[in-house]
Amino acid sequence: MFGLSKLFSSKSVQKQPILTALAGYRSAAFAVGIDEKFINGIEPQNDNSLLLNLTLPFAALSEMPQVAEFVSHKLKQTVVINAKVELPDACKFKSIKHIILIASGKGGVGKSTTAVNLAGALSAEGGKVGILDADIYGPSIPMLLGLTGAPTTQDDKQLQPFDANGIKAQSIGFLVPSDDATVWRGPMASGAVNQLLNETAWGELDYLIVDMPPGTGDIQLTMSQKVPASGTVIVTTPQDLALADAQKGIAMFNKVNVPVLGLIENMSHFLCSHCGEPNHVFGKDGAIKLAQRHGVPVLSKIPLAIDIREYSEQGKLIAMDNQATVSKTYADAARLIASTLYYQQPHHDSVEIVITDD
Ligand code: ADP
Repeated sequence: MFGLSKLFSSKSVQKQPILTALAGYRSAAFAVGIDEKFINGIEPQNDNSLLLNLTLPFAALSEMPQVAEFVSHKLKQTVVINAKVELPDACKFKSIKHIILIASGKGGVGKSTTAVNLAGALSAEGGKVGILDADIYGPSIPMLLGLTGAPTTQDDKQLQPFDANGIKAQSIGFLVPSDDATVWRGPMASGAVNQLLNETAWGELDYLIVDMPPGTGDIQLTMSQKVPASGTVIVTTPQDLALADAQKGIAMFNKVNVPVLGLIENMSHFLCSHCGEPNHVFGKDGAIKLAQRHGVPVLSKIPLAIDIREYSEQGKLIAMDNQATVSKTYADAARLIASTLYYQQPHHDSVEIVITDD
């Protein structure tokens, strides 16, 4: 991505220890360390600290303080990181780089709440984000984002998306009364969603989140075949019934070759306000067992939290409030999704395996 020789503004900077320290960093999102091609420049400062300019190929800004701490510790020198996000990935649809479907086997598991908060978290991590509400049975994204009114058009051809804290939003609920939509068959529903996808002036987006209708019937199957998605995230609760339906969701996406990026276990546990102990109201470790069976990761375990519901009812995104403890669980899932999408693309240098006789 960058010519390394140009990166070092002074000959007094030893580059190898910095590259080694960055390469040795490990986390769920940076499972193979920080590649030297993410480095954009290294500037020694007058106070003997180092300013490291990084261009991240996926949305993961909130992890930079940890990276800076790790590298500072390794180099025994204060390192400050200045990072921006620029996805090198090709656009999958118009000027949209990745479309991510948020699905669930059944209703009421918190799919829409998770979808808006993942959009918020990806935006907070530095991505350009949009959300399309395709849940024809109960479009709730406008309410969750505090949006009112009808979409406008500037040229009579394209609808303008709403703007919610920098997130571009569009909902099928703005266009079709949900009573009408519930009697649709698959081709009609997927036709309407495609029209909304095509006829909204999204502009450039790194990630477009699509809140799918719950279930695994004809409508969901046709929609997931028609939308050019990079992957899907399945939201479930730890309850057996929800898990059985989530399993059907995994099978459906496997059938249409949409990669399952992982599961999110919502309402995973309740933190007791008196003793702070987690209480597993809907059962324990259900999503992990399901995930292991299908070889997919659990991206996050989101607690059953009163403030998640309260923020939703006020049309606010808890994931964008870094004072709220639970925002971290959405941020962790967002970085993992962004990282998986980047590493599953074929734009990386191949790993050379050398076999020798000794
Ligand atoms: P779905 O889209 O799966 O039908 P919703 O996102 O509409 O589900 O959520 C259903 C209800 O559960 C809403 O009242 C929402 O505020 C609440 N909810 C969702 N996730 C959580 C959570 N983690 N903690 C507390 N309440 C939640």
